[in-house]
This record gives sequence, structure tokens and C-alpha cells, in this order.
Amino acid sequence: MDFSLNEEQMAIRQTCREFAEQEIKPIAEEIDATGSFPYALIRQMGELGLLGLPFPEEYGGAGADFLSYCLAIEEISRGDVSIGITMEAHTSLGATPFFLFGSQQQKEQYLTPLARGERLWAFGLTEPEAGSDSGGTQTRAVLQDGCWHINGSKTFITNAGTDMTGGVTITAVTGHTPKGRPEITNLIVPKETPGYIIGKPYKKMGWKASDTRPLAFEDCQVPEGNILGHPGDGFKQFLRILDGGRVAIAALSVGLAQACLDEALSYARQRRQFGQSISKFQAIQFKLADMDMEIELARLMYYKAAWLHMQGKPYTREASMAKLFASETAKRAADQAVQIHGGYGYMDEYPVSRYWRSVKINEIGEGTSEVQRMLIAKQLGC
Ligand SMILES: Cc1cc2nc3c(=O)[nH]c(=O)nc-3n(C[C@H](O)[C@H](O)[C@H](O)COP(=O)(O)OP(=O)(O)OC[C@H]3O[C@@H](n4cnc5c(N)ncnc54)[C@H](O)[C@@H]3O)c2cc1C
Repeated sequence: MDFSLNEEQMAIRQTCREFAEQEIKPIAEEIDATGSFPYALIRQMGELGLLGLPFPEEYGGAGADFLSYCLAIEEISRGDVSIGITMEAHTSLGATPFFLFGSQQQKEQYLTPLARGERLWAFGLTEPEAGSDSGGTQTRAVLQDGCWHINGSKTFITNAGTDMTGGVTITAVTGHTPKGRPEITNLIVPKETPGYIIGKPYKKMGWKASDTRPLAFEDCQVPEGNILGHPGDGFKQFLRILDGGRVAIAALSVGLAQACLDEALSYARQRRQFGQSISKFQAIQFKLADMDMEIELARLMYYKAAWLHMQGKPYTREASMAKLFASETAKRAADQAVQIHGGYGYMDEYPVSRYWRSVKINEIGEGTSEVQRMLIAKQLGC
């Protein structure tokens, strides 16, 4: 067994670590306070190739492997999770469906500008009445005169409304199987399509500088060819998309947990009470040691899931475990980081206050913790 990273993986991790330290951390507090989308930074990331890491060079990507992409997500999220989720939702949810299921023409038309970082793309699965039960999609698309006529709505969609966004891929019911089950298809909806209405951004507890919006489709028409694969492929496709996304969200959680440990350790060393640094108290040391141990375990879990993915082996179980454990690790780390800061941790000028607000979503997005436990139990044969 070899746990070491190869040279390319280490180089990508180092580049992202430096980028996060020099470019992201200095603006993290401000973009959280203003809730403004950091266009200049995201464009810079595109120019560095960070928005197309796991895609082949022929489609504008960096040709890196999946683990390198996850290492990048960890380091970028260590700098700021709003930036981490923007990169993750664009890559795992927006661009990957084109790479996995798009035709040659769709790869050239859509994937290439996304991988080059010229455009962002969103994936709209969740609906007001279909969240964890994502197969319960109510949005309908009917084929008439060579066009899909789409009616319905989506909720909480990341990257859907930025000035850089090119469009969204959505799930919709396009018919029924012979057994009467809804047939779900993934449809490509460019941003300017008449009848596609992008709502105002939500006001959120965390991830404030990321773009999250409701979407509506009112007799929105796209050409018959604007689907991924064949009608009815959508359900299987989004399960595959979510498996990869969960490993990336695990990496994002590890990045945030590491940021909590970084801040807590640095504060514990400099804060003095009872005549000495609080890092000399065993109660504080044990908190830091537990954080370090759990982060290491969560990291190894996402490394393993990514490795299985790269080997072409099944990894649904490991993806759910990594996402579940890493998000809960990050929650405990954020909680302990604030505790170690005492009252100062409750103040906005200390990053741990922002980390504590931002961490909760990791247990909800891309499948709640309950859904991950259901998926793991299913693999047990329950
Ligand atoms: C900031 C943000 C960004 C997002 N970005 C996107 C995006 O880009 N694209 C997208 O499609 N979606 C996105 N989502 C949606 C996200 O994936 C959903 O919120 C999530 O899947 C949960 O769905 P829900 O909110 O409808 O909760 P519900 O499904 O209504 O769940 C409510 C509670 O019930 C529990 N529950 C539900 N069913 C069961 C069950 N069978 N057994 C036990 N407990 C159960 C859940 O675990 C949860 O605790 C985003 C959400 C947020 C908040």
C-alpha cells in the first residue's frame, strides 16, 4: 500500500495552497460580509486552469487526475469555502455531466469553455417538493415540434445566476417507463433561453459569496438535441454525478476542518491565561489532538474514495462515508475552534466565527447526512 502522492498531485496541492494563502484568505472576510461574488478571483482561477482540472486538455482542461482535483478543492476551501463550493459545483455538477455523458459536439460547445474557466455552469436537481427524494422531480419536459417545452421549478441552485454563468443542466420528467415510473432526462438550458427565469440570490447563513438561486421554467423551449444521452438516462446519470460530487464535498469539508485547526492552534499558542499559553493546558491540547486525528482520518477516506474512482472500481459506499464523516468532522472542528477562542471566537473579526456559520451546509448539500447513512445501509443490504 502506497499513501504517497505523486509529483503532479503534490505540485497541484502546493499551487492551490499558495493561491489560497496569497489570494483567497486576504479577501475571505470581506466577501463573506458583503456577500459579493468574487469575479476577479474566479476568473484568475480559470486562467490558472483550476476550473477544469480533471478534464482532458483537448477539451480545455488541465488533464489532472480526480485525486488532484480533490486536493485542489481541499486547499482552496481551506482558504475559503464560498470559493471552494463555487469551484466544486462548477466542476463536479456543472461540467462533469458534459464530460461523462455529452456527445462530441456537446463537449466542444459546452465543456471546453467551462474547463477553460471562461464560463460557469450549474446543475439543477433539487426542487421545492423534491429534495432528498431527488427522483421525485416534478419539472416536466414535453417534446413538440422539435423542441422540449419545459415547465417547473428548481431550488437552491449553485452558480446559476452569475454574470459568468452559461446555463444549467436540469432533471425533468420526459415520459413514463412501461412500468409507469417517471422517465427522467437531463436537459441543457442556456441562460438566455426565453421562459427560463433565474430568481434572486438567497440570503444564506454561510457560503455567502457563492451564488445560490431558485429557477423557474415557463414554457421554456430548448432544441430536441439539448439532452445528455438518451431520454430516460437522467436518473442513472445524476447518481453517478453525485458519487463524484460527494468525494469532492468531503475534500471541501476537510479543507474547512483544517482551516479550523490552523486557526485554533495559532490562537491557542498566543493566548495566555493563568500565566501561560492556553496550548499548555491538556484540555486544550486534547481538543487539538482530536481535531488533527479526525481530519487525518477524513482525508484518508476521501483519498481512498478518489483512488477507487480512478481505478474504475465501485465507490458509492466510500463516497458516502467520506462525505458523511468529513462533514461531521468539520462540524466538530468548527465547534472546538470557537471554543478554544472563547468569547473572541464569537466575534466576526475572527475567521472561526465564519467557519462555524459555514460548516452546517456540508451536512445538507449533495445529500444530507441522513441520506448518506441510508446509502451506506443500502450497501449493507438493508
Ligand atoms: C447553499 C445550498 C446550495 C445547494 N446547491 C445545489 C445545487 O447546486 N444543485 C442542486 O440540485 N441542489 C442544491 N442544493 C440542494 C441540496 O442538495 C438539498 O437541500 C438537499 O439535498 C436536501 O434537500 P431538502 O433541502 O429539500 O431537504 P429535505 O429532503 O426536505 O429533508 C429535510 C430533512 O428530512 C430528512 N429526510 C428526508 N428524507 C428522509 C428519509 N427518507 N429518511 C430520513 N430522513 C430524511 C433530511 O435528511 C433532512 O434532515 C443546495 C442547497 C443549499 C442549501
